Amino acid sequence: MRKDKNLLASVSDISTESEFFSPVPKGYKRGKAKYVFVMGTVMSGLGKGIFSSCLAKLMQDKGLKVAPIKLEGYLNIDSGTLNPFRHGEVFVLDDGMECDMDLGTYERMLDQDLSKANFATSGQIFSSVLNKERHGDYLGRDVQMIPHVTGEVKLKLRELAMQSKADIVFIEIGGTVGDLENAYYIEAMRELAYEEGPDSSCFVALTYILEPKTLGEQKSKAAQLGIKQLMQCGIQPDIIACRAATAATDKVRQKISVYSNVPFERVISLPDTASIYMIPAMLREVGLDFEVARLLRIEDRINLRHERKAWAQWCDFMDKIGAAERDVTIGITGKYTSVRDSYASIINALEHAGIALGCDVKIKWIDTTDLTDENVSEALENVDGIIVPGGFGTRGAEGKITCIKYARENNLPYLGLCFGFQMAVIEFARNVCGLKNANSTEIEPKCSEPVIDILPEQKKIEGLGGNMRLGGRDIEIKAKTMAWELLGRKETVRMRFRHRYEVDPRYIEQLEKAGLVFSGKAPDQPIMQILELPSHPYFCGTQAHPCLTSRPLRPSPMFVGLVAAAMQKQNPQEKSRDCVKTVQKVCSAGLVTKC
Ligand code: GLN
Repeated sequence: MRKDKNLLASVSDISTESEFFSPVPKGYKRGKAKYVFVMGTVMSGLGKGIFSSCLAKLMQDKGLKVAPIKLEGYLNIDSGTLNPFRHGEVFVLDDGMECDMDLGTYERMLDQDLSKANFATSGQIFSSVLNKERHGDYLGRDVQMIPHVTGEVKLKLRELAMQSKADIVFIEIGGTVGDLENAYYIEAMRELAYEEGPDSSCFVALTYILEPKTLGEQKSKAAQLGIKQLMQCGIQPDIIACRAATAATDKVRQKISVYSNVPFERVISLPDTASIYMIPAMLREVGLDFEVARLLRIEDRINLRHERKAWAQWCDFMDKIGAAERDVTIGITGKYTSVRDSYASIINALEHAGIALGCDVKIKWIDTTDLTDENVSEALENVDGIIVPGGFGTRGAEGKITCIKYARENNLPYLGLCFGFQMAVIEFARNVCGLKNANSTEIEPKCSEPVIDILPEQKKIEGLGGNMRLGGRDIEIKAKTMAWELLGRKETVRMRFRHRYEVDPRYIEQLEKAGLVFSGKAPDQPIMQILELPSHPYFCGTQAHPCLTSRPLRPSPMFVGLVAAAMQKQNPQEKSRDCVKTVQKVCSAGLVTKC
């Protein structure tokens, strides 16, 4: 352990006399938490988050406490205003934090709820530094990138370590080494490793091996240059993971090893896989988990019994991947039809549900911009169920309503998520209650039958920015309804929300009289949160986003219900609502979800 005086000072103990400036939270003890840094070279999009979450999962299986954090280079304070088309879906945490989709990968892989402590952007870091400057916290010093901004990053990491009591903090740095916007993150990593001392940190560089078609062989030059750039920042990688379309050859791994001072066995090959859920097994096979434990000197904290149990459970799950003997096709309507990342959680939730039911779920993307009553049956041909996912704005909304009408009238299983819930209410109001002008004020601000309107509580804060109802909320479930059966006959469940609009309470009675059942409501306000149609085999909508909390071993019952109903549709001899029994069977087999 280092003895350098003042190298670390507690936040309230910073002095102007010393050049050392590294504020740490009060009570922080060096050595308790270890740090694994995951960085990318050559290009972005290599799956740093996937790699980091899989490695973290293996360490968690060993009974170690892990805490992931994603450091984003952009200046936005959160991901709330980011266009999913450019950046992938906005993932919402239980505490309401709107963040990068990688946080979803961590939550799913670790089966762990995360919070705003697990996500930082340059915007947050700078805003905090500037606030401290105004507050006089820097004691008359000129505020600089080093040590103040890097100090803020280190403080955030150590706070997470303390608050989570983690054995290992996994830090994923967005972008690529060499990007201007993440250079100070990389410097902060170097400083942190130095301050924490030997055996405290492990640096992993993810790189990409090119294989130009014209040459037909793998080339390591780009990878070498990327690693060189990292070494120029004063960081010696401990592990290099070579991403490539196919397995990296020994020759390429040897070249990289010699070039980077990283032992050959720690230059690992990470080719593309069909399912990300197979990656932990790939890392385990090359012994990366124990290699990391050795590098961090935490072998004595490992609980092998815990690991055996956790791994056996994971292997059972993996055995079911790709082993399905039947399939269903679920149609998903959406604006961002060409970008899978915009719907990452929904795709994952369908995969989890399919694996639990032994059914391969194929997805058909449905562009609703030109859909009408005349061509809808053609668009939905060979589709066994439909999802209308979350969305904003007007584009394609009428086409979505047309799809929902078709699903309702033709007993096609339907799951509406947030916007899809609202569109289902509009469809029902128009075509069953006869309110021809029913609409949402988001789509038609001056409509005469605003069955969906802006939340009164959101109206008050309109214009201030960040005016959405966000994060985990309780839902009161009406007994004896389908939702009640699906969700384990519980009185309340918790789901995550991200919306501004809701069902206008003035229409609830009329809608219910006509046969729509609101089976989930907010406990203390008349906010409708789940709907269903008892006369339909599976017609379910929720103002929430159950996909955000679907986990591989605990799939969301609403998605399991949809897939089960889609399977049942192919086999009409089954009784209506048998899908509910299927969900209950799946859940009682140990796949109980928290929703
Ligand atoms: N645009 C709708 C609202 O703000 C739905 C939001 C969503 O689907 N996430 O309420």
